[in-house]
Amino acid sequence: MSKPLPLAAVPPTRPACAGLWDTPMVQVNGDVTVCCLDEHLLNKVGNVNVTPLREIWQGATLEAWRNAHVEGRFADSGPYCTSCNWRSAGTMSPERIAAWRAGQA
Ligand code: SF4
Repeated sequence: MSKPLPLAAVPPTRPACAGLWDTPMVQVNGDVTVCCLDEHLLNKVGNVNVTPLREIWQGATLEAWRNAHVEGRFADSGPYCTSCNWRSAGTMSPERIAAWRAGQA
């Protein structure tokens, strides 16, 4: 019988996480991260008191992290995404990825 993986084990392969597209989380002080798991703001991408949320969410950092997820380069994504066991924020379907890529400049 094989030994079970620890809860936080990172799967060897995984799909792009929809959190980077769907779940901006704004803290009470205005800090923005990409998912509800990120209580320590490892994936902080800005602060709405400094930068509008639209600008943060459509900015270069998140676009780079999204591309990294789509291409399976999770080490090039947000620090928390790199070690996340990816079990909460949903999957980007191939159709959604294709539509997103078609909309990229
Ligand atoms: S991969 Fe993990 S840390 Fe990154 S957005 Fe998805 S659920 Fe959050």
